[in-house]
This record gives sequence, structure tokens and C-alpha cells, in this order.
Amino acid sequence: MRILLVEDEKMLSGFIVKGLRNTGYAVDPAYDGEEALYEYELNEYDLIVLDLNLPKKDGLEVLREIRAKNQEIKVLILSARTKVGDRILGLDEGANDYLIKPFDFWELEARIRNLLRWDFVQKPLNLSLGYLQVDTKAKRVYFDDREIALTRKEYGILEYLMSHKSQVISAEELTEHVWDNEFDPFSNTFRYHIHSLKKKLYTASELDFIKTIRGQGYIIEEV
Ligand code: CA
Repeated sequence: MRILLVEDEKMLSGFIVKGLRNTGYAVDPAYDGEEALYEYELNEYDLIVLDLNLPKKDGLEVLREIRAKNQEIKVLILSARTKVGDRILGLDEGANDYLIKPFDFWELEARIRNLLRWDFVQKPLNLSLGYLQVDTKAKRVYFDDREIALTRKEYGILEYLMSHKSQVISAEELTEHVWDNEFDPFSNTFRYHIHSLKKKLYTASELDFIKTIRGQGYIIEEV
């Protein structure tokens, strides 16, 4: 899952980016309101973490502009504004959640995880397909109760496919949601990771869970 982090305090931003990347998310930092809207237009995000006091353009203005175009994207406001009125204003403008600074990193991570589970229906904490189980809290994968050790990127690809079961997902969409701006589109990284993921799943289960649809992408479905 890919997150846009809009936070102008460089140290705090660096701390959150590092923590979220270590937890397995793709994260792009933006340091002011205009940069946030620029990155938003350029990339496909699953969630935005948004500070309110920002240079160039205020967080609420950024939220308003994004909500005018996109009702679906999850927005979590992260702000030092502690007044109830500010929180209500943020939620009224369409934020899905509000966390006050200073905050605990693991609370932020839990709220992000929780928001990403809510779609039209709430997705379960565990995604499963036959004997294949993905624990999205611990970010671990099991086949028939035996753990399959995956790298963070392999896990990211699998979680995205499992969240869109029986749909063909293009390589572009997968890289868009699993990698951030650090991704080099001219490298073979994606092919390498998906190949390695397929191999690990096959070794554990002797089943081809992920199928390649030539010229279109990848699909995970019951085998
Ligand atoms: Ca700020």
C-alpha cells in the first residue's frame, strides 16, 4: 500500500517515513501543500497522512481540493491543533481520522492499517485464499499454518493482489502501490520480486496461486 505523507517538519517526516517503510508501506514525503497536490496528481495513493499547518497551502485547503476530485482516498490528519473545533472542521472536510501530535508511531500505524481495511465493506484483518493466509496486522503469510518467509516487497505485492482477488492487476498498478518514488522504473526489480514471490508460494504449497496473464498482468485466485 502506498502512502503520501504531507509533513513540513523534516525530522518528524523522516521518522515517519522510516517507520512506515520498515513496516512494509511505500511512502512518499511532501513538505508543503503545493508539493502534496503535485505528488497526488502524479501517483496513485491508497492513503494520505496530512499535517494542517503547512507552508504554501494549508492542510485543510489541500484536503478540500483532493476531496473535490476523489471521495475514496483515505485521509488521516496529523496535527498539533488540539482544539475540538479544528478536529470537527477536519472531519467535516472529509478526513477519515484525526491524530493529535505528539503521537505514538504504533498508534499511527494502527490507525493507517485500520483505515486501509475500510472499503465499502470492511476487509477482514486476515485475507485468505484456500489454505493461504495473509495476516495484515503482523504482515506474515502462512500456508496450511506454516509460515512462508517473504521480503517486504514480496509481502506488499501479495497483500495487494489478495485485496483484489480474482482481478487482473497490471505490473504498473502493482509497482504504483507497492513502491514509492525510490522505485527505478528501468530496473528489473519488480520482475525479480514477483518471480521470487511466485517461487516461494509454489515451494510452500505446490500450487500456482499467482498467474501471469500475458500482456495484462497478474491474478490471484483459488487453485
Ligand atoms: Ca506543520
